[in-house]
Amino acid sequence: MTFPIHDASPVRFPGPLPAEADVVIIGGGVVGVMTAWFLAERGLRVTLCEKGRIAGEQSSRNWGWVRQQGRDPGELPIMVESLRLWKSLAQELGQGLGFRQTGVLYLADTAEEMAGYEGWLTHARAHDVDSRILSRDEVAAMIPQAAAGWKGGLWTASDARAEPWAAVPLLAEGAVRRGVTIVENCAVRALDIAAGRVAGVVTERGRIRAGRVLVAAGAWSRLFLGAHGVKIPQLAVLASVAATAPLPMVFDGAACDSRFAFRRRADGGYSIAPSDHHDFFPGRDAFASLRSFLPVLRQDFRTTRFRPFAPKGYPDAWGTPRRWSPDEVSPFERMRILNPAPNAAVVERLRDDFARTFPALGRPDLTAAWAGMIDTMPDVVPVVDHIAAIPGLTVATGMSGHGFGIGPGMGRVVASLVAGDAPSHDLSRFRFSRFSDGTKLAPGPSL
Ligand SMILES: Cc1cc2nc3c(=O)[nH]c(=O)nc-3n(C[C@H](O)[C@H](O)[C@H](O)COP(=O)(O)OP(=O)(O)OC[C@H]3O[C@@H](n4cnc5c(N)ncnc54)[C@H](O)[C@@H]3O)c2cc1C
Repeated sequence: MTFPIHDASPVRFPGPLPAEADVVIIGGGVVGVMTAWFLAERGLRVTLCEKGRIAGEQSSRNWGWVRQQGRDPGELPIMVESLRLWKSLAQELGQGLGFRQTGVLYLADTAEEMAGYEGWLTHARAHDVDSRILSRDEVAAMIPQAAAGWKGGLWTASDARAEPWAAVPLLAEGAVRRGVTIVENCAVRALDIAAGRVAGVVTERGRIRAGRVLVAAGAWSRLFLGAHGVKIPQLAVLASVAATAPLPMVFDGAACDSRFAFRRRADGGYSIAPSDHHDFFPGRDAFASLRSFLPVLRQDFRTTRFRPFAPKGYPDAWGTPRRWSPDEVSPFERMRILNPAPNAAVVERLRDDFARTFPALGRPDLTAAWAGMIDTMPDVVPVVDHIAAIPGLTVATGMSGHGFGIGPGMGRVVASLVAGDAPSHDLSRFRFSRFSDGTKLAPGPSL
């Protein structure tokens, strides 16, 4: 199976490109799409430009976990709202989203992991989330076919799953029905700045006048913003995933232990992935941000495979230009869809992990394997803020590997921010100034 969204996929959202909008959104992942949706509901004229295809990058390539469990306390209230939104989206858009509340389960191999799960329950209780600790026997009863002798687990029955490559294009159709103009194959090359504030954008197809612009460009945000002198310490790591052919039901939800993650898909197969492995390509940005990333690096050093350099055209490849003129081809249209090759050895290992976990099912046949570049921040939470130096510019990026489930809630919050209203959640953890005001950047108690 070819990955469902690729360079040759038909354009579903052709535009047309308007001359003017109230808000231009750069990036057609779940964050851009859902922000557009909520801005249009407020009656604003919104144009969303996507350099490739809606959800061509992270937003289709993820595991499809919609989880409150294990979230940073700064994200948790937004995620609780997001889950409510997913339920109403599923009522409007139907089964195509693949949204089902089948639970999320973290499995513990060690007493330290169990202690970490117990510690996180404080946050769950503060927001009335139904997470609870499971004993060894309760876990064994929940996944009776599993061979592993886990010590116990953390379980949130209200957590959910959805089918990323189907769901996000459906959400985009919903946004269009609300009046959003979406233009695929349309890279934004630069902001149009007049008298020190945002006056619109320059796209590969021409200018759009707009007083407000949102950068929701995932792994490309640092490159785009850097060209305007806005520095965010964002890096991208490669995460590999595989899809098994349909198999008997062993567990209906999503689960992982310290090595292996699996999630049943709507088609009866499982999306499987390593929970202990990423590949990383150090480039100029990585060296520039080394200090900020040291705490995460210390945590993840053993589970990261360092590769010598990123392939040509990647956001932090050595040859990728950091400056370009708005009337020349930019790095964004040179790579319509960032489609990294998965780590082949990891994919083979996943088949072994599956067979070891579920011996009765054996080594599964795979229907696909792919990878995504996760846009991550040093404290593993996003930047969601106005950029004071360029009035009219707002940024929502760096979802750090957990932006799919929170996407609808984040879209609602970002829409309030862009519209100039109070977003009704505390966004101080996500402020842009934390990178320059001496704040010690450290990952929260997210699991
Ligand atoms: C393997 C993997 C597993 C994951 N698992 C989960 C999970 O189970 N649950 C969860 O909640 N999250 C998960 N995530 C994270 C989640 O997928 C992301 O956090 C989320 O999709 C980010 O959405 P986004 O809209 O910010 O960015 P993206 O989906 O990356 O979208 C950004 C878009 O901007 C476009 N763009 C960039 N620059 C320009 C430009 N100049 N002009 C026009 N367009 C531009 C890009 O083409 C891209 O389509 C996972 C991610 C990966 C890779």
